[in-house]
Amino acid sequence: MKILNQYDNEMQLEFDSKSENESFARTVVAAFASQLNPTLEEIADIKTAVSEAVTNCIIHGYEGREGKIFVHCYISGNEIGIDVKDAGVGIENVKKAMEPLYTTRPDLERSGMGFAFMQTFMDELAVESKVKEGTLIRMKKKIQTT
Ligand code: ATP
Ligand code: MG
Repeated sequence: MKILNQYDNEMQLEFDSKSENESFARTVVAAFASQLNPTLEEIADIKTAVSEAVTNCIIHGYEGREGKIFVHCYISGNEIGIDVKDAGVGIENVKKAMEPLYTTRPDLERSGMGFAFMQTFMDELAVESKVKEGTLIRMKKKIQTT
């Protein structure tokens, strides 16, 4: 029996919450996205967004402690969806957290621009979070076809 695939193509990653894995994650997602023939600028946008999302899981979600980060990428037509999830502390006020320059960690010299970058560089950004359960970041970007 053939199970119908909801997407044209998809992949999932699970890796440890360690800063060494941030460049790994952005490189793998960029490699997967490359099948849509993105421009260098579009690839750079995707890499930045993935970096910001994964860094947030490591620094805020798990607060530097051990944990797993999950990345799910799916392609439909010329659009790529990227979900980044942690099972960390969660966000109390998502609306506030998404405001530019808002950070709960000025002590770590964070500038509070991560969500603003994700919003700017991707076409869609949605954040679902529950305190003590974790956070799911859902991003989508359409790759321009020439
Ligand atoms: P920057 O990204 O500029 O280094 P930042 O990480 O503080 O600074 P954002 O990425 O915009 O800024 O995140 C804003 C705030 O949202 C964070 O300070 C943190 O409180 C909260 N936050 C973001 N991602 C998570 C997460 N995965 N788990 C828990 N809290 C999060
Ligand atoms: Mg951040």
